Amino acid sequence: MLAPDSDRDRARSNAEEPNRHVSAEPVRQRKIIHIDMDAFFASVEQRDTPDLRGKPVAVGGSRVRGVAAAASYEARKFGVRSAMASVTAKRKCPDLIFVKPRFDVYKTVSIQIRAIFADYTPVFEPLSLDEAYLDVTENLKGIASATRIAEEIRVKIRAETGLTASAGVSYNKFLAKLASDHRKPDGLFVITPKMGPAFVETLPVAKFHGVGPATTAKMHRLGIETGLDLRAQTLPFLRQHFGKSGPYYYWIARGVDERPVHAGRIRKSVGAENTFSQDLHAFGPMREALEPIIAKVSQRYQATGILGRTLTLKVKFADFQQITRSRTG
Ligand SMILES: [Mg+2]
Repeated sequence: MLAPDSDRDRARSNAEEPNRHVSAEPVRQRKIIHIDMDAFFASVEQRDTPDLRGKPVAVGGSRVRGVAAAASYEARKFGVRSAMASVTAKRKCPDLIFVKPRFDVYKTVSIQIRAIFADYTPVFEPLSLDEAYLDVTENLKGIASATRIAEEIRVKIRAETGLTASAGVSYNKFLAKLASDHRKPDGLFVITPKMGPAFVETLPVAKFHGVGPATTAKMHRLGIETGLDLRAQTLPFLRQHFGKSGPYYYWIARGVDERPVHAGRIRKSVGAENTFSQDLHAFGPMREALEPIIAKVSQRYQATGILGRTLTLKVKFADFQQITRSRTG
């Protein structure tokens, strides 16, 4: 199971309170940068093996049950996505070249980029090997413009690692992450406080960080397709349909996100799960159903670069009762 996302919880509890942004008091605007390496694993492989440049590359296993952990932009043009089954990826792109992941190299690059972040601020929060939030409201260089800092970081990353990163600059984490995605690859995009609400309005809800496929489907059923549709909903309505996440959706639809950037945040566990549309009764099918879940967990813990000692298996029965069994190695 996944570690509780303290950020989300914090956002929710903040959302319960009257929001500071709507008061007449002047609020000190934060400056948040989200840095995200472009097609990270695949780009590292293309950097180190010139033969792979300009070609559709997937990092991961080509075996029957293999998963493409990452795809180069050339492969993405064919519809290949990360976490896609290798067979599907190969069907979409017959010329796809599979490369074995080299996590030690990815970790080295990760350490390099984190050292660059640390030159600017101690307040940075890695989300994975290739992605981080930085709070540069106060920064070690005394640079007033977050956009300038983001541009400098991108230049340094390219110079030191030979790889490109995209940056998003805004006044909170939610918008900074949306911004870094907006001009990918090798791009920079700024969402100013003035632009924030309008930017969210036009976005499909599926693009929102924290709105997964299941929630997207539910929102669609409720007639909520865009940020604007979401903003039209009342807090009680969202709470009724989305429980504790309701207030979070209520506020992000307004471009409001008070979550702080956590420096040195440590992830305690990674996991994956699947709910089956039909109950599994026999050991064989259960064992088989575990395979893609194991692959996902393995991919996630490798991406975060952590090591674990305890493995927990969770089983949920048709009556929603659940049991867990753990083993520590
Ligand atoms: Mg990335």
